[in-house]
Amino acid sequence: MPDQPTRKLAIIGAGSVGATIAYACLIRGVAPRVALFDVNKAKADAEALDLNHGLQFCPPAQLEASDDINICSGADVIVITAGAKQKPGQSRMDLASANASICRVLIPKLINVAPNSILLLVTNPVDVITYITLKLSGFPTPRVLGSGTVMDSSRFRHLIAKRVSVAVANVHAYIAGEHGDSEIPLWSSASIGAIALKDWAVPHHGKLTVRDRAEIFQNVKDAARHIIEGKGATNYAIALATARILEAIFRNENRILPVSSLLTDYRGISDVCLSVPSIVNSTGIEQPLPIPLNENEEAGLRNSADTIRSTIRSLGF
Ligand code: NAD
Repeated sequence: MPDQPTRKLAIIGAGSVGATIAYACLIRGVAPRVALFDVNKAKADAEALDLNHGLQFCPPAQLEASDDINICSGADVIVITAGAKQKPGQSRMDLASANASICRVLIPKLINVAPNSILLLVTNPVDVITYITLKLSGFPTPRVLGSGTVMDSSRFRHLIAKRVSVAVANVHAYIAGEHGDSEIPLWSSASIGAIALKDWAVPHHGKLTVRDRAEIFQNVKDAARHIIEGKGATNYAIALATARILEAIFRNENRILPVSSLLTDYRGISDVCLSVPSIVNSTGIEQPLPIPLNENEEAGLRNSADTIRSTIRSLGF
């Protein structure tokens, strides 16, 4: 593992998600140098002005923006948020073709100016876009990862925590598979404190019935749709989730996060990017973990892999 911490962050796309990631990263002091690239120069410049006017209240950092790709030169980590977003009624998979086309142009330029970077994909459908980026970049597998189900898992933990009235930090539970309609809740390994979730029955803190579980998971799946209907985009939770992944990379944390990466013979699943809890550090994604799965969960993961793979194939990859 490299001893030197990595230092320059580039963010591609200064839209709702990219600008909020920049904001979250500045507040949390994730990287001392932040570059914001967008083809829309006026938007990139305006976001940079606004963010720079708040720098006095953040840990020391510099932020610059441009529509020139050279602003990303020498970046250690590049977060990609450029592209089309869901309109009400659209699924994430509906964005695949448009956002794959953006990647075909963008990725060769990025690897030219930052050949040693780690690429973190946020653009949807994130698992498909992560796979395509891996192939287009020719980078080694550990250096290309997607934000995956880190945010979905955070939504999941929030809803469980609320239901049983305990702090969200004490709930350990993951959503795995696609960041999208075929994602699966890993109930069998979920725990609260040191108590397996299936055994949770604490006075004044309830139990989780089968109905509760179904409702919680449905809420996780519907969350983005509700938010998009109400305000047109999701930005805060994804920005915080992305900042957390970036901290794991920049600070070499060996943090376990359900990020999306290329799986090779993971319970027989190969040649597809999807999320399972994985160790993340300054090398990028060190390895997906061999987590316990019951029969339903394993079948769900396979189904998710097939769904993502069929979209990847339909795009000619
Ligand atoms: P947005 O429309 O607000 O911003 C997109 C930005 O990308 C725009 O500013 C646009 O000018 C820029 N852009 C387009 N093509 C570009 C290119 N070739 N190079 C540089 N910039 C380019 O959209 P948003 O709400 O910020 O969402 C961005 C993406 O993030 C969408 O695909 C959305 O679905 C995705 N998203 C993912 C997650 C997740 O959990 N993975 C969560 C929320 C949003």
